[in-house]
Amino acid sequence: MKNGVVNSVGQSNDLEKVTTPAVQAKLIKLGIFRVQDLLTFFPIRYQDETKVLNITEAPERELVQIEVTVINSKVEFRPRRQLVVSVQDATGIASLRFLNFYPSQQRMLGAGVRIRVVGEFRINRQRVREMVHPRYKKIIANEELPTTLTPVYATTKGLGQASIRKAVTRAFAVADQTDTLLPAYLDDLGLPSFSDTVKTLHRPQGDVDPALLKNRSSEFWARLSFDELLAQQLIMRKNYDKREQYMAPVMSPVNSRIELFLSRLGFKLTNAQERVLSEIQTDISKHLPMRRLLQGDVGSGKTVIAALAALQAIDAGYQVALMVPTEILSEQHFRKIEGWLSILNISVERLTGSLTKAERNQVNEKMKGGFVHIVVGTHALFQEDVVFKNLGLVIIDEQHRFGVKQRLALIDKGADKLNQTHQLMMSATPIPRSLAMSFFGDLDVSVIDELPLGRIPITTKLVSNSRREEVFQRIEETCQSGQQVYWVCPLIEESETLQLETAIHTHDLIQAQFPNLRIGIVHGRMKSQEKTSIMDAFSDGAIHLLVATSVIEVGIDVPNATVMVIENAERIGLSQLHQLRGRIGRGSGASTCILLYSSKLTDTARLRLRVIYENIDGFEVARADLQLRGPGEILGARQSGVPMLRYADPERDVLLLEKAKLLASDFLANHTELAEKHIDRWYGSREKFSEA
Ligand code: ADP
Ligand code: MG
Repeated sequence: MKNGVVNSVGQSNDLEKVTTPAVQAKLIKLGIFRVQDLLTFFPIRYQDETKVLNITEAPERELVQIEVTVINSKVEFRPRRQLVVSVQDATGIASLRFLNFYPSQQRMLGAGVRIRVVGEFRINRQRVREMVHPRYKKIIANEELPTTLTPVYATTKGLGQASIRKAVTRAFAVADQTDTLLPAYLDDLGLPSFSDTVKTLHRPQGDVDPALLKNRSSEFWARLSFDELLAQQLIMRKNYDKREQYMAPVMSPVNSRIELFLSRLGFKLTNAQERVLSEIQTDISKHLPMRRLLQGDVGSGKTVIAALAALQAIDAGYQVALMVPTEILSEQHFRKIEGWLSILNISVERLTGSLTKAERNQVNEKMKGGFVHIVVGTHALFQEDVVFKNLGLVIIDEQHRFGVKQRLALIDKGADKLNQTHQLMMSATPIPRSLAMSFFGDLDVSVIDELPLGRIPITTKLVSNSRREEVFQRIEETCQSGQQVYWVCPLIEESETLQLETAIHTHDLIQAQFPNLRIGIVHGRMKSQEKTSIMDAFSDGAIHLLVATSVIEVGIDVPNATVMVIENAERIGLSQLHQLRGRIGRGSGASTCILLYSSKLTDTARLRLRVIYENIDGFEVARADLQLRGPGEILGARQSGVPMLRYADPERDVLLLEKAKLLASDFLANHTELAEKHIDRWYGSREKFSEA
């Protein structure tokens, strides 16, 4: 091969067929590795160069095209050296200004030259209509205006539109444009063919309605969305089906201590809990490795489901690992699980980074020997020295806090290559169904969509910082009545020091104000033993008010805490606010969440606070968050084990997404080659992403 360029996914580069090495290097920066990729690299917008407007009639601050004669052009210093060209048409005069220019440009723009110019008008200081750095070209006699819109592509430094357009045009001659969707499907879906779609969107001809090009929900853009969603579903479906290469331990629910467990629990499972439990139980009693995501709003009761799944695994003779993202949470889960299971003669251990080397070795030995039935831990669990005797079930709480690789590292602790552990992932970040389908398509999803009975909905109050005194009043009353309070000073502007200062300051202030109350503080810089003992004291009711940094964000469960005050609420993300708020309203008492905000609110901040104020349902909050921030932010880059979408929007295209999901299995089963071709067309250069 001439250039010998091999792209990052190991495919040889065929771009040399359509362009020069210099342009190739730029295209690669845009994620274009193959000729095929040029075809699926669609314009971000179109320019209308079909019309010529008059200088005086053309609207300001909009891209317009004019045809003018140069009056004069001169280099000015104001103060930077620049080329200023005065031009006119039948209706008036205007000025064109170039900050970077070549001498040849100045020569070309001599008096009397006729040019066609595309740019945006502003009124300059001299009250003259002016375009800064417009595109222009000399008018060739009798040259007709284009009859169609001109595509504009996303680009990178040093790569002009003309080069991309040329490469795309040449790609048409070389690249495969045959359809991967059977005509019958297209008819069903009412979508245009692939070749029509690429032709229309890249090179709109003659009579195409501009709305079809601009409107992202038009049939051509719909075809792209559908193709992309289908490719994504196919990839995830393949991942999912890969499970069939493995055997998982069969954990049948016979002779289980589950009945005994339930009879001692002190509450009855909700219908939703019963349902998800039976889905999980069915999964793990099969040979196929379970890969299930358990979603449920904060407080919906996921922990007890985890314990019940663990019990079934343990009864079948396997070990269980429960991994959580923070020390505090691991401590709390450990206690809860131990409380539930140790009376059933089950050995529960914890493994976290704060254990001494000796303690760690001890736990490790017990795990290796099979003397531990369930281990609760943090990131320490997937470290190399950790060995299980027969790990059969991995449960990951708050799974969105872990990266794909970390999850896999833990799962790899199970037995051998032919065997795979069952996996249960839990998340309290409820995401809309469309997103779940799109991002977790390779998982089965269970949803607890009901809160335990008797919960009184949390009241949310927005209080300006200037009214803090009233809040103090309120918390005193709460504490006097025997209930407890969280006072949260969350991380702002990524400054942990600032957060700590605020927390300590707040602690001292409240303590000074209410000498009779017992005030505690917990933050990320404390030793984990200190954290634990404070949390214990709070759980036991020995502390009335706990000032906390965002370390308490996930999972903490103290039902007697009924008031939460959150400082700087306007600067915190919606999902985080919802998580924090979920720490209260967990018992039978009425709870109040007080959001303190600074008096100067930006519009976005006001909007966000309104969302959290009006919605108590995590799914609604997540939907709003999605609209405000986009899916990448919500799921985080670490989640991106999933092929990213460029054109489709799971929310907007939810109907297409559902159809793509339906089609994917049939497609893989009955049209394997087409399916592979489809994946290759859309993700051939990017599939490596999904194997992370
Ligand atoms: P999350 O889903 O946020 O992890 P938890 O598992 O921490 O929620 O449960 C919240 C609280 O509700 C805990 O105190 C738990 O024991 C309790 N709980 C769970 N299920 C029920 C139920 N069916 N009825 C009453 N209380 C329940
Ligand atoms: Mg939880």
